[in-house]
Amino acid sequence: MRALCWVAADELAVREVPDPELRNERDVIVRVRRSATSGVDLPLLAGRDPLLRAGDVLGTEFLGEVVETGPAVRRHRIGDRVVVGASVACGGCWYCRRGRHSCCDNGGADVASVDPDLVRSDAGCFGRPRAAGGFAGGHAEYVRVPYADVGAFRVPDAVGDDRALFAADAAPTGWLAAELGEVRSGDVVAVWGAGAVGQLTARAATLRGAARVLVVDRHADRLRMAERHAGAETLDYRSTDVAAELRERSGGRGPDVCVVAVGVPPTRSVADRLTGRDVDRPDAVREAVHACRKDGVVVVLGGAPGHVDAFALGAVTDKRLTLRGSRRPDLRDVPMLLHRMARDELRTEHLATHRLPLEDGPRGYALFADRADGCVRAVFTP
Ligand SMILES: [Zn+2]
Repeated sequence: MRALCWVAADELAVREVPDPELRNERDVIVRVRRSATSGVDLPLLAGRDPLLRAGDVLGTEFLGEVVETGPAVRRHRIGDRVVVGASVACGGCWYCRRGRHSCCDNGGADVASVDPDLVRSDAGCFGRPRAAGGFAGGHAEYVRVPYADVGAFRVPDAVGDDRALFAADAAPTGWLAAELGEVRSGDVVAVWGAGAVGQLTARAATLRGAARVLVVDRHADRLRMAERHAGAETLDYRSTDVAAELRERSGGRGPDVCVVAVGVPPTRSVADRLTGRDVDRPDAVREAVHACRKDGVVVVLGGAPGHVDAFALGAVTDKRLTLRGSRRPDLRDVPMLLHRMARDELRTEHLATHRLPLEDGPRGYALFADRADGCVRAVFTP
Protein backbone atom coordinates (compact mmCIF):
# COMPACT_ATOMS: atom_id res chain seq x y z
CA MET A 1 0.00 0.00 0.00
CA ARG A 2 0.97 3.68 -0.31
CA ALA A 3 1.80 5.65 2.85
CA LEU A 4 3.28 9.00 3.83
CA CYS A 5 6.58 8.24 5.56
CA TRP A 6 9.16 10.20 7.47
CA VAL A 7 12.48 9.89 5.66
CA ALA A 8 14.86 12.35 7.34
CA ALA A 9 14.69 15.72 9.12
CA ASP A 10 12.28 17.91 7.16
CA GLU A 11 11.87 15.25 4.49
CA LEU A 12 8.73 13.21 3.86
CA ALA A 13 7.87 10.90 0.99
CA VAL A 14 4.98 8.75 -0.18
CA ARG A 15 6.31 5.21 -0.35
CA GLU A 16 5.15 1.66 -0.91
CA VAL A 17 5.04 -0.17 2.46
CA PRO A 18 3.66 -3.60 3.50
CA ASP A 19 -0.09 -3.81 4.14
CA PRO A 20 -0.94 -4.00 7.86
CA GLU A 21 -2.19 -7.32 9.23
CA LEU A 22 -4.22 -8.32 12.29
CA ARG A 23 -1.74 -9.08 15.07
CA ASN A 24 -4.04 -9.43 18.08
CA GLU A 25 -7.58 -10.67 18.48
CA ARG A 26 -8.83 -7.20 19.45
CA ASP A 27 -7.42 -5.49 16.30
CA VAL A 28 -9.30 -4.24 13.29
CA ILE A 29 -7.94 -3.09 9.95
CA VAL A 30 -9.35 0.21 8.71
CA ARG A 31 -9.31 1.44 5.10
CA VAL A 32 -8.57 5.15 5.49
CA ARG A 33 -10.95 7.71 3.95
CA ARG A 34 -9.45 10.87 5.47
CA SER A 35 -6.40 11.76 7.59
CA ALA A 36 -5.23 15.13 8.91
CA THR A 37 -1.96 16.84 9.75
CA SER A 38 -1.37 17.56 13.43
CA GLY A 39 0.76 20.07 15.35
CA VAL A 40 2.33 17.27 17.37
CA ASP A 41 3.88 15.97 14.13
CA LEU A 42 6.01 19.07 13.63
CA PRO A 43 8.79 18.27 16.13
CA LEU A 44 8.92 14.77 14.60
CA LEU A 45 9.26 16.18 11.10
CA ALA A 46 12.13 18.33 12.25
CA GLY A 47 13.91 15.15 13.36
CA ARG A 48 13.71 15.97 17.06
CA ASP A 49 12.73 12.43 18.08
CA PRO A 50 15.78 10.15 17.97
CA LEU A 51 13.57 7.04 17.94
CA LEU A 52 11.89 7.90 14.64
CA ARG A 53 13.16 5.74 11.76
CA ALA A 54 13.11 6.36 8.02
CA GLY A 55 9.96 4.68 6.70
CA ASP A 56 7.82 5.26 9.80
CA VAL A 57 4.25 6.10 8.72
CA LEU A 58 2.88 9.35 10.17
CA GLY A 59 -0.71 10.40 10.87
CA THR A 60 -2.43 10.84 14.23
CA GLU A 61 -5.96 11.74 13.17
CA PHE A 62 -7.89 9.56 10.71
CA LEU A 63 -11.25 8.10 9.77
CA GLY A 64 -12.14 5.15 7.61
CA GLU A 65 -14.03 1.94 7.06
CA VAL A 66 -13.53 -1.36 8.88
CA VAL A 67 -12.37 -4.03 6.41
CA GLU A 68 -11.16 -6.79 8.76
CA THR A 69 -11.88 -7.64 12.41
CA GLY A 70 -10.09 -9.80 14.97
CA PRO A 71 -12.08 -12.64 16.61
CA ALA A 72 -12.50 -10.80 19.95
CA VAL A 73 -13.87 -7.57 18.45
CA ARG A 74 -17.48 -7.06 19.60
CA ARG A 75 -18.50 -3.53 18.67
CA HIS A 76 -17.45 -3.35 15.04
CA ARG A 77 -18.37 -5.05 11.82
CA ILE A 78 -16.88 -4.99 8.38
CA GLY A 79 -18.20 -1.93 6.55
CA ASP A 80 -18.59 0.27 9.67
CA ARG A 81 -17.49 3.87 9.15
CA VAL A 82 -15.33 4.69 12.18
CA VAL A 83 -13.27 7.52 13.57
CA VAL A 84 -10.27 6.31 15.58
CA GLY A 85 -9.28 8.15 18.76
CA ALA A 86 -5.70 9.38 18.72
CA SER A 87 -4.87 7.74 22.08
CA VAL A 88 -4.22 4.00 21.93
CA ALA A 89 -5.53 2.61 25.23
CA CYS A 90 -6.25 -0.87 26.53
CA GLY A 91 -9.63 -0.20 28.14
CA GLY A 92 -8.88 -2.40 31.15
CA CYS A 93 -6.14 -0.84 33.28
CA TRP A 94 -6.66 1.29 36.42
CA TYR A 95 -6.64 4.53 34.38
CA CYS A 96 -8.79 3.30 31.50
CA ARG A 97 -11.46 2.00 33.91
CA ARG A 98 -11.69 5.56 35.23
CA GLY A 99 -11.92 7.07 31.73
CA ARG A 100 -8.35 8.44 31.82
CA HIS A 101 -7.34 6.81 28.55
CA SER A 102 -4.54 9.28 27.93
CA CYS A 103 -2.81 7.83 31.02
CA CYS A 104 -3.28 4.16 29.99
CA ASP A 105 -0.64 1.80 31.38
CA ASN A 106 -0.58 -0.46 28.34
CA GLY A 107 -1.27 1.57 25.17
CA GLY A 108 2.34 2.49 24.49
CA ALA A 109 3.82 -0.45 26.30
CA ASP A 110 7.41 -0.12 25.21
CA VAL A 111 8.57 0.81 28.71
CA ALA A 112 12.19 0.11 27.88
CA SER A 113 12.38 3.14 25.62
CA VAL A 114 10.77 5.52 28.09
CA ASP A 115 12.91 7.97 30.04
CA PRO A 116 13.93 5.96 33.16
CA ASP A 117 13.68 9.12 35.28
CA LEU A 118 9.99 9.24 34.57
CA VAL A 119 9.38 5.50 35.04
CA ARG A 120 6.03 5.37 33.46
CA SER A 121 4.25 3.86 30.52
CA ASP A 122 1.70 5.88 28.67
CA ALA A 123 -1.13 5.75 26.16
CA GLY A 124 0.06 4.94 22.66
CA CYS A 125 -0.44 7.16 19.68
CA PHE A 126 -0.71 6.51 15.95
CA GLY A 127 2.07 7.72 13.73
CA ARG A 128 4.67 7.79 16.48
CA PRO A 129 7.97 6.03 17.06
CA ARG A 130 8.54 3.19 19.52
CA ALA A 131 8.28 5.23 22.70
CA ALA A 132 4.61 5.85 21.89
CA GLY A 133 3.87 2.23 21.00
CA GLY A 134 5.26 2.20 17.48
CA PHE A 135 1.83 2.23 15.82
CA ALA A 136 1.87 3.11 12.13
CA GLY A 137 -0.21 6.20 11.44
CA GLY A 138 -3.22 7.11 9.33
CA HIS A 139 -1.53 8.77 6.36
CA ALA A 140 -1.85 5.49 4.50
CA GLU A 141 -4.35 3.37 2.63
CA TYR A 142 -4.83 0.99 5.59
CA VAL A 143 -4.14 1.09 9.34
CA ARG A 144 -4.08 -1.58 12.06
CA VAL A 145 -6.16 -0.36 15.00
CA PRO A 146 -5.40 -2.18 18.28
CA TYR A 147 -8.02 -2.38 21.09
CA ALA A 148 -10.63 -1.47 18.46
CA ASP A 149 -13.61 -1.80 20.83
CA VAL A 150 -11.99 0.88 23.02
CA GLY A 151 -10.59 3.32 20.49
CA ALA A 152 -12.70 3.14 17.30
CA PHE A 153 -16.14 4.77 17.19
CA ARG A 154 -18.92 4.33 14.69
CA VAL A 155 -19.78 7.63 13.02
CA PRO A 156 -23.49 8.58 12.89
CA ASP A 157 -24.83 8.79 9.32
CA ALA A 158 -25.66 12.48 9.82
CA VAL A 159 -21.98 13.39 10.30
CA GLY A 160 -19.83 13.77 7.19
CA ASP A 161 -16.23 12.58 6.96
CA ASP A 162 -14.71 16.07 7.05
CA ARG A 163 -16.49 16.84 10.31
CA ALA A 164 -16.14 13.47 12.05
CA LEU A 165 -12.40 13.31 11.28
CA PHE A 166 -11.70 15.87 14.03
CA ALA A 167 -13.44 13.73 16.65
CA ALA A 168 -10.23 11.67 16.58
CA ASP A 169 -7.97 14.20 18.27
CA ALA A 170 -8.60 17.94 17.98
CA ALA A 171 -12.17 17.91 19.36
CA PRO A 172 -11.59 15.56 22.34
CA THR A 173 -8.34 17.40 23.17
CA GLY A 174 -10.20 20.70 23.22
CA TRP A 175 -12.96 19.18 25.32
CA LEU A 176 -10.44 17.73 27.75
CA ALA A 177 -8.80 21.16 28.11
CA ALA A 178 -12.12 22.73 29.11
CA GLU A 179 -12.73 19.86 31.50
CA LEU A 180 -9.26 20.05 33.09
CA GLY A 181 -9.84 23.81 33.42
CA GLU A 182 -13.15 23.05 35.15
CA VAL A 183 -14.82 25.66 32.95
CA ARG A 184 -18.13 26.65 34.50
CA SER A 185 -21.08 28.76 33.51
CA GLY A 186 -20.13 32.44 33.57
CA ASP A 187 -16.34 31.90 33.39
CA VAL A 188 -13.93 33.97 31.36
CA VAL A 189 -11.62 31.64 29.44
CA ALA A 190 -8.48 32.63 27.52
CA VAL A 191 -6.95 30.32 24.92
CA TRP A 192 -3.46 30.83 23.45
CA GLY A 193 -3.33 29.46 19.90
CA ALA A 194 -6.08 29.55 17.25
CA GLY A 195 -5.16 26.32 15.48
CA ALA A 196 -7.60 23.43 15.37
CA VAL A 197 -7.15 22.48 19.04
CA GLY A 198 -7.31 26.09 20.22
CA GLN A 199 -10.50 26.73 18.27
CA LEU A 200 -12.12 23.55 19.57
CA THR A 201 -11.04 24.38 23.13
CA ALA A 202 -12.79 27.72 22.69
CA ARG A 203 -15.90 26.00 21.35
CA ALA A 204 -15.87 23.49 24.22
CA ALA A 205 -15.65 26.35 26.72
CA THR A 206 -18.65 28.02 25.06
CA LEU A 207 -20.65 24.78 25.12
CA ARG A 208 -19.83 24.43 28.84
CA GLY A 209 -21.34 27.86 29.48
CA ALA A 210 -18.36 30.24 29.55
CA ALA A 211 -19.52 33.85 29.47
CA ARG A 212 -16.53 35.07 27.47
CA VAL A 213 -13.89 33.18 25.53
CA LEU A 214 -10.83 35.06 24.29
CA VAL A 215 -8.45 33.54 21.75
CA VAL A 216 -4.90 34.87 21.35
CA ASP A 217 -2.97 34.37 18.11
CA ARG A 218 -1.33 36.41 15.35
CA HIS A 219 -2.92 34.84 12.27
CA ALA A 220 -5.91 36.93 11.19
CA ASP A 221 -7.58 34.10 9.25
CA ARG A 222 -7.45 31.75 12.25
CA LEU A 223 -8.75 34.45 14.57
CA ARG A 224 -11.68 35.08 12.20
CA MET A 225 -12.50 31.35 12.34
CA ALA A 226 -12.42 31.43 16.16
CA GLU A 227 -14.90 34.33 16.08
CA ARG A 228 -17.20 32.74 13.55
CA HIS A 229 -17.18 29.09 14.61
CA ALA A 230 -16.40 29.24 18.33
CA GLY A 231 -18.12 32.51 19.20
CA ALA A 232 -14.85 33.77 20.67
CA GLU A 233 -13.45 37.27 21.04
CA THR A 234 -9.95 37.53 19.64
CA LEU A 235 -6.65 39.24 20.43
CA ASP A 236 -3.75 39.68 18.00
CA TYR A 237 -0.73 39.56 20.29
CA ARG A 238 1.40 41.58 17.87
CA SER A 239 -0.78 44.66 18.23
CA THR A 240 -2.28 44.20 21.71
CA ASP A 241 -1.03 44.27 25.28
CA VAL A 242 -2.48 40.83 25.93
CA ALA A 243 -2.22 40.87 29.73
CA ALA A 244 -3.83 44.32 30.03
CA GLU A 245 -6.58 43.42 27.59
CA LEU A 246 -7.36 40.14 29.38
CA ARG A 247 -7.62 41.97 32.73
CA GLU A 248 -9.85 44.58 31.15
CA ARG A 249 -12.25 41.94 29.87
CA SER A 250 -12.38 39.92 33.09
CA GLY A 251 -13.38 42.47 35.71
CA GLY A 252 -9.76 43.41 36.38
CA ARG A 253 -8.92 39.98 37.81
CA GLY A 254 -7.66 38.00 34.82
CA PRO A 255 -9.32 34.99 33.17
CA ASP A 256 -10.67 32.20 35.39
CA VAL A 257 -9.15 29.59 33.09
CA CYS A 258 -6.14 29.93 30.75
CA VAL A 259 -5.42 27.23 28.16
CA VAL A 260 -2.16 27.06 26.23
CA ALA A 261 -2.82 25.35 22.88
CA VAL A 262 0.10 26.58 20.83
CA GLY A 263 0.94 23.04 19.74
CA VAL A 264 4.51 23.19 18.62
CA PRO A 265 7.14 23.73 21.30
CA PRO A 266 8.27 27.34 21.11
CA THR A 267 11.33 28.21 19.10
CA ARG A 268 14.55 27.93 21.04
CA SER A 269 16.35 31.11 21.89
CA VAL A 270 19.59 31.79 20.06
CA ALA A 271 21.56 31.27 23.29
CA ASP A 272 19.99 27.84 23.81
CA ARG A 273 20.62 26.85 20.21
CA LEU A 274 24.26 27.86 20.51
CA THR A 275 24.81 26.00 23.75
CA GLY A 276 22.71 23.03 22.63
CA ARG A 277 20.89 22.84 25.96
CA ASP A 278 17.67 20.83 26.03
CA VAL A 279 15.69 23.85 27.07
CA ASP A 280 12.78 25.68 25.52
CA ARG A 281 11.39 28.97 26.70
CA PRO A 282 7.66 28.60 27.06
CA ASP A 283 6.53 32.15 26.33
CA ALA A 284 2.83 31.37 26.02
CA VAL A 285 2.86 29.34 29.25
CA ARG A 286 4.55 32.15 31.10
CA GLU A 287 2.07 34.66 29.75
CA ALA A 288 -0.84 32.43 30.79
CA VAL A 289 0.53 31.95 34.31
CA HIS A 290 0.93 35.71 34.73
CA ALA A 291 -2.47 36.53 33.18
CA CYS A 292 -4.59 34.00 35.07
CA ARG A 293 -6.59 35.31 38.03
CA LYS A 294 -5.69 34.23 41.58
CA ASP A 295 -6.97 30.73 42.34
CA GLY A 296 -7.47 30.11 38.61
CA VAL A 297 -6.51 27.13 36.45
CA VAL A 298 -3.82 27.02 33.75
CA VAL A 299 -3.99 24.09 31.32
CA VAL A 300 -1.06 23.28 29.03
CA LEU A 301 -1.75 21.04 26.03
CA GLY A 302 0.42 19.22 23.56
CA GLY A 303 3.94 17.99 23.20
CA ALA A 304 5.76 20.37 25.54
CA PRO A 305 9.53 20.06 25.84
CA GLY A 306 10.83 17.86 28.64
CA HIS A 307 12.48 20.70 30.53
CA VAL A 308 11.98 24.42 30.58
CA ASP A 309 13.72 27.21 32.37
CA ALA A 310 12.53 30.71 33.28
CA PHE A 311 9.30 29.16 34.51
CA ALA A 312 7.22 31.51 36.68
CA LEU A 313 6.89 29.09 39.59
CA GLY A 314 6.56 31.99 42.03
CA ALA A 315 3.38 33.14 40.31
CA VAL A 316 1.91 29.63 40.69
CA THR A 317 2.36 29.69 44.47
CA ASP A 318 1.70 33.41 44.99
CA LYS A 319 -1.58 33.23 43.08
CA ARG A 320 -2.61 29.77 44.29
CA LEU A 321 -2.88 28.56 40.70
CA THR A 322 -3.77 25.07 39.61
CA LEU A 323 -1.53 23.90 36.77
CA ARG A 324 -2.69 20.96 34.66
CA GLY A 325 -1.59 19.41 31.41
CA SER A 326 -2.26 16.74 28.84
CA ARG A 327 -0.49 15.55 25.75
CA ARG A 328 -3.29 13.32 24.46
CA PRO A 329 -7.09 13.23 24.58
CA ASP A 330 -9.18 10.70 26.47
CA LEU A 331 -11.51 8.47 24.48
CA ARG A 332 -14.61 8.70 26.65
CA ASP A 333 -15.74 12.01 25.13
CA VAL A 334 -15.64 10.89 21.48
CA PRO A 335 -19.23 9.50 21.30
CA MET A 336 -20.61 12.62 23.00
CA LEU A 337 -18.70 14.83 20.56
CA LEU A 338 -19.99 12.83 17.57
CA HIS A 339 -23.55 13.36 18.86
CA ARG A 340 -22.94 17.08 19.19
CA MET A 341 -21.61 17.03 15.62
CA ALA A 342 -24.77 15.22 14.46
CA ARG A 343 -26.90 17.90 16.20
CA ASP A 344 -24.84 20.60 14.46
CA GLU A 345 -23.64 22.03 17.79
CA LEU A 346 -20.04 21.28 16.89
CA ARG A 347 -18.78 22.08 13.40
CA THR A 348 -15.23 21.27 12.46
CA GLU A 349 -15.07 20.91 8.67
CA HIS A 350 -13.81 24.49 8.25
CA LEU A 351 -10.54 23.35 9.89
CA ALA A 352 -9.80 21.24 6.80
CA THR A 353 -8.55 24.25 4.86
CA HIS A 354 -6.59 22.15 2.36
CA ARG A 355 -7.83 18.87 0.91
CA LEU A 356 -5.20 16.95 -0.99
CA PRO A 357 -4.57 13.45 -2.32
CA LEU A 358 -2.20 11.44 -0.10
CA GLU A 359 0.40 11.66 -2.88
CA ASP A 360 0.64 15.41 -2.10
CA GLY A 361 1.34 14.72 1.59
CA PRO A 362 4.79 16.37 1.61
CA ARG A 363 3.31 19.54 0.10
CA GLY A 364 0.43 19.44 2.61
CA TYR A 365 2.85 19.30 5.53
CA ALA A 366 4.91 22.14 4.05
CA LEU A 367 1.78 24.32 3.88
CA PHE A 368 0.75 23.26 7.38
CA ALA A 369 4.16 23.81 8.97
CA ASP A 370 4.50 27.30 7.46
CA ARG A 371 0.82 28.15 8.08
CA ALA A 372 0.96 29.16 4.43
CA ASP A 373 -2.11 30.06 2.40
CA GLY A 374 -4.26 30.13 5.55
CA CYS A 375 -3.60 26.44 6.27
CA VAL A 376 -5.07 25.20 9.57
CA ARG A 377 -5.10 21.48 8.77
CA ALA A 378 -4.25 19.67 5.55
CA VAL A 379 -6.52 16.66 5.02
CA PHE A 380 -5.41 13.77 2.84
CA THR A 381 -7.45 11.25 0.89
CA PRO A 382 -5.65 8.03 -0.10
ZN1 LIG B 1 -5.43 1.15 29.82
